[in-house]
Amino acid sequence: MNVIGQPALVSVPGLYEAPAKPEQYYKRKQRTAMVSGDTPPRAVLEEQVEGDFLVEDDPRTVEAIKGYVLQAYHYLATGADFCANEGCRLANPHRQPGVIEAQLREPEFCDAHAERYEA
Ligand SMILES: [Zn+2]
Repeated sequence: MNVIGQPALVSVPGLYEAPAKPEQYYKRKQRTAMVSGDTPPRAVLEEQVEGDFLVEDDPRTVEAIKGYVLQAYHYLATGADFCANEGCRLANPHRQPGVIEAQLREPEFCDAHAERYEA
């Protein structure tokens, strides 16, 4: 969903599409396909599946994107890429629940990055 460097790219659709959704989402999709021979519309799946993930036009989009913009800035400013701490906004999780954790839950940053960005 983002490519850091110069220039840096941050993709809004990538925020919904790139990180994997909760496992239950794919299971439900597969099960419905076996029963009805058809996959349910995405909106239905998104309503039925528990676990947090971002969908198109999610009201949390802007807040989540801020972290990805900051990652691009952070890379240019320090040369360091993603943070290994899962709860930090500079982390780069591969699954949607991780994105929610990193971008939308407290604390915003790990201790090291809090020092730099929470002033
Ligand atoms: Zn960090």
